[in-house]
Order: sequence, then C-alpha cells, then structure tokens
Amino acid sequence: MAETRFALNDGSVAVVIGSGAGGATLANELCQRGKKVVCLEAGPRLSVADYRNDEFFAFQQLTWLDRRIATGNWSVANTAPTMPAYTVKAVGGTTNHWGALAFRMQRHELEARDRYGTLPGVALANWPVKWAELRRYWLRAESRMGVTGTHGIPWLPVTNNYKVVDFGAREVGYRRVANDRHAINSQSRNGRPACMQLGFCGQGCKSSAKWCTLYTEVPQAEETGRFDLRPRCTALRIEHDATGRVNAVLYVDADGNQHLQKAALVAIAANAIETPRLLLHSASSKYPKGLANGSDWVGRSYLKHINASAWGLFEKPVHMNHGVTMGGTIYDEARFDVSRGFVGGYLLQACQVGVPFLAAVIKPDGWGRDFTQYLEQYDHLAGIWMNGEDLPQRDNRVSLHGTDKDANGVPIPVVHVDEHANDIAMRKHFYERAEMVLRAAGARSVMRGTPVSASHNMGTCRMSVRPEDGVTNSFGRSHEIDNLFISDGSVFPTSSAQNPTLTIVALAIRQAEHIVRTFR
Ligand SMILES: Cc1cc2nc3c(=O)[nH]c(=O)nc-3n(C[C@H](O)[C@H](O)[C@H](O)COP(=O)(O)OP(=O)(O)OC[C@H]3O[C@@H](n4cnc5c(N)ncnc54)[C@H](O)[C@@H]3O)c2cc1C
Ligand code: SF4
Repeated sequence: MAETRFALNDGSVAVVIGSGAGGATLANELCQRGKKVVCLEAGPRLSVADYRNDEFFAFQQLTWLDRRIATGNWSVANTAPTMPAYTVKAVGGTTNHWGALAFRMQRHELEARDRYGTLPGVALANWPVKWAELRRYWLRAESRMGVTGTHGIPWLPVTNNYKVVDFGAREVGYRRVANDRHAINSQSRNGRPACMQLGFCGQGCKSSAKWCTLYTEVPQAEETGRFDLRPRCTALRIEHDATGRVNAVLYVDADGNQHLQKAALVAIAANAIETPRLLLHSASSKYPKGLANGSDWVGRSYLKHINASAWGLFEKPVHMNHGVTMGGTIYDEARFDVSRGFVGGYLLQACQVGVPFLAAVIKPDGWGRDFTQYLEQYDHLAGIWMNGEDLPQRDNRVSLHGTDKDANGVPIPVVHVDEHANDIAMRKHFYERAEMVLRAAGARSVMRGTPVSASHNMGTCRMSVRPEDGVTNSFGRSHEIDNLFISDGSVFPTSSAQNPTLTIVALAIRQAEHIVRTFR
C-alpha cells in the first residue's frame, strides 16, 4: 500500500503527537471512523527484526535518552539525576518496553478524595468518570489488546518466579494471589503468534506476541489510507489562531528541518513528562502560562507510582528469567485499609529482570560480597516488585528549566518529587511484607532493591469537573481550548495502585468517540 501523505497546509487533519499507547490507539480509532490523522513521532520506526534480546543494547536502542533533570527528596534525584523516568523514543512508544500487565482500577481508587479523607499537602481528587463507565471501555481495550483472563482468552502459563512468590504468599496468609492479566497472546490472535516465554518482554518482543502499538494500532491505522505517520519528527510548539483555538504544530524532522503542519485539532500523547513540557513551551501572549494552563495545573501533581523491589536468594535454582517479565501478583495489599498507617494500597508483583538491570536495581553503586553473591547466583533468585499508589501533590511537578535547552532550543524538563510521608510508610510496609513472603518460600537472604526511575508517568494535566481544578474535562479535552486534547496518562487525577496502560487505552477509545461525535 502506498504511504499516505497529507499536505502541510491541510487544515482538516487531526495531529496526534506520540505513537505510544495513547497516541496510536486514538489515531487508529479516528482513522477507522473516517478521520484523517497526521502522527508526529520523535523516535524512529523499528521492526521486530531490529529488537535484540540484550538488556543493554535494547536500553540504548529504545530509551528516551534526552536529558531530563530530577529534583526533590526522592532517591532517584541522587541515583539517576538526569533520568527521572524510563520511557521510549520510537514508534510504539513505551509499549515497546512495557511488561504488558493490563489491570483495571478498583472503585475506591477512583474516589480518592471521598474515601481517603484530608491529608496535609495532598490535592486528592475523584475521577470525573465513573467506574461503571470506565468498565465499558476497559472491556473494549481488553478485547482489542487480547488481555488474558478476559473475553475467554486463556491465561499464560505461570512462571517459575511466580510459583515461588505464590507459595510464600499463601504461607504468610495472603489470599488474593493470581496469575496476571497480560496483554500478551496466550494463543495466536489477530495475526500475531502466542508467547514463546522468551523472557525479554522489556527489550521488545521479537515474536510480536506482546501488544505493542508498533505492530498493532499503527499498521491497522495505515490500512485505512487515512494515517500519515511521520517518525523522527519532534513537535516543538503548538500554535493557535487569534481566537485561541489551536491550528498548527511546529515540528523538526530527522534532517533538522522545521515544518508547520496545519491542524483541525491537536491531541498530545507524548507521555506525562513531554506532554506538559510541550504545553508549557507553547506559551504565547494569549496564553502566557502555557497552553491550557489558565488554572496553573499543567505539569503539576506528577504521579509515578511508588516502586521498590525485593530479591530472595534460594538454596535451589529458580530460573526467574524463564517466562514473561511479570508473572503474577499479590493483590491483598491493594485493599482500602487505613489501619496500616497509610491510605491507598500497593501490589506485590512477581518480577524478573536480567543480570545487568538487576545490578542497577538492587544497588546502583553496589560493591562487596553481599552484593555480588546476588549476581553470581542469579539463577537462584526470585523477585517481587512494588507498584504503589502515590499521592497527588501540587508541587510535585514537571516544569521547564530556566536556562538549559535541548538541541532544538526547547527547555529541558525538570521533574520535581518530594515523597509524602504516606509514600514512605507504604514502601516500608512493602519491604517488610515482601521479605516475609520470600523468606516463607525458603529464601536464605533477601536484598531490598532501591527505587528506580519512574516507568509509569501520570497526572501532569489532570482531568477535573471544574476548570479551576485541572486541565481537561473527562474526555481529555482542554477546559480552555476546545480543539486541544490530552490522550495519555497525564489526565489521571490519581494513580491508583494499578498499572496504568489499560486505562490509557480505554480513555483513548472513549476520547475518539467523543471527538467523532462532537467534531464535524
Ligand atoms: C520497563 C517498563 C515496563 C512497563 N510495564 C508496564 C506494565 O506492565 N503495565 C502497564 O500498564 N504499564 C507499563 N509500563 C508503562 C507503559 O509503558 C506506559 O504507561 C505507556 O506506554 C504510556 O503510554 P503513552 O501513550 O502515554 O506514552 P508512550 O507509550 O511513552 O508514548 C509516547 C510517545 O511520544 C513520543 N514523543 C514524546 N515527545 C514527543 C514530541 N515532542 N514530538 C513527537 N513525539 C514525541 C515518544 O517518542 C513516544 O514514542 C511500563 C513502562 C516501562 C518503561
Ligand atoms: S516472554 Fe512472550 S511476550 Fe515476552 S518477549 Fe517473549 S514471547 Fe514476547
């Protein structure tokens, strides 16, 4: 099929920025419904043949390595001061890397303001979209992504790592322990094969069993003849007309040439750090604080989930690396229960990483026998990852650096996080519980892993009922500019304890319907 190309002066196209979970899903939905879409993607278009089962190589190949700055009291500001977040720069976005856990949120997690009470320094909010409505879209997202355990799709086989975690969890009294819902084919589906249990989900799935927009949403959209994907094209600014409606996007291509693409509407899905960065950088005399930022919420209330890990060393081999990265979850601690000394909850997830990442995760500056025995006896390890709800705080935010700019002259983003006492209490609880589980399963020692750069980014353009409380309405449509949309995790008012991507996809489907319904 010939490549689709729309003219730069074609003002009837929707411009979508970013081709990851949110952007490519929205673009595909719009194309399927007869709309013309130009998608600007900063990264290259790779193919599954380009993926390599090698952690370091894949990290260099896929990761967004442009400088960002981490500040605040979170440990990442010390351990990874120029990499607060781990995201991808390539067609398919971070779905190239993701572990494909596809979880729905719990009812109480969408009503945090009502359920959690008042907490000092916290800007809790209820979601402006109800659980029952989201459920309809989760179901559709699950069907489209082929999520195991839903729609009659069989589960993946359990991993060795999960068997150990499951045993320890039941020994200490946990009851809500289960194989995960994965957006990974357990049987061939939609032209893609079943998972081969290679264990390199984080390096790009060479068999394409894992849902990644590079080879799902993108080619589907292209087949409509209405999708103009422009890889290696980085959006620099969003322009608006005299009335204040957005009408064009300025971008730079791989050769360094700048272009202005006209647009009927603009949807940003650049992940929750680049999205507010672009809005803030698009400030004008009409919008001096940045686009959609009359409420001063753009960039604020950055959420990233509380992460940590624990690694048990066993007498006998476990071979945790056999099978998918994330193998199963203990859900008991995701309950609503303030008696533990914190609000919100967390998941304990059976998780494996390769030797290079393990070294960075367990102790970034590790040295000595205590540390090296974990690397030497890698095949005797089992791991548990923490995914915990962090709290929205106004001053945890993405802002533009005052002087430091990237090669295109755009200020680099500063990601500031001061952890709340609630976050710290929750992580302490996790370490104790994870160690109990691993020891109950027979671990002779346990190493606590350091928190690492955020892989889940949310909250920097939150949706709200009232314009003064956020950036968009429940459809991700800017309160201030009616043809400007946010289509990624930035719109989450709270993080919940659940991995975010299923909800990003569900919201993108819902947003596409809204756009088609309300735009002529
Ligand atoms: C190692 C890892 C494991 C993960 N595992 C899970 C999991 O198991 N479950 C889960 O739910 N989530 C997981 N995630 C998170 C998940 O990948 C993200 O939530 C999801 O991909 C976010 O979708 P998005 O569309 O917001 O952004 P992305 O998928 O990151 O896509 C954004 C795209 O925008 C592009 N872009 C940015 N700025 C510009 C610009 N100015 N111009 C043009 N293009 C631009 C980027 O290059 C990128 O391709 C994981 C993440 C990582 C790193
Ligand atoms: S374990 Fe399955 S999903 Fe992960 S990389 Fe291998 S084939 Fe793909």
